[in-house]
Amino acid sequence: MKQNFPSDKQVETALNQILKKFRSVNSQNKLKKIVDKELSKKDKKFSVSAGRLRNIAINSDFVKLEIHSREGDPKKIMNKCPVCESSLKRVKNLTIWGGKVTLEFRCTKCGYWTGKKKRIPTRYIFHLKKKKTN
Ligand SMILES: [Zn+2]
Repeated sequence: MKQNFPSDKQVETALNQILKKFRSVNSQNKLKKIVDKELSKKDKKFSVSAGRLRNIAINSDFVKLEIHSREGDPKKIMNKCPVCESSLKRVKNLTIWGGKVTLEFRCTKCGYWTGKKKRIPTRYIFHLKKKKTN
């Protein structure tokens, strides 16, 4: 089936409506299905890929992304964030007890982090971000 591609804005709008209704959606595939359904009200052939949807969610200001992961290979070198492909920042942490330095990699964009045992994302949960009251 031929697909049409909605604009980022259209996807963002659909995502916003869905999260306002459900508050949180506990799987990326589930979210994709609901977003596609919402988009199809505008155009029956509209569809968004799960990866693109996740990126739009990260770039929006109303989504809080919760990343579930499993442990990966400690020898694996990660230069890019596995969630949003931004470059990772090296952070040295000094533990309070014993003064041991641990190295962490953080993504400033989506909040992903990993220590020596590489965290491989396995599941994403999308929450509606609470509005700041000020
Ligand atoms: Zn990231």
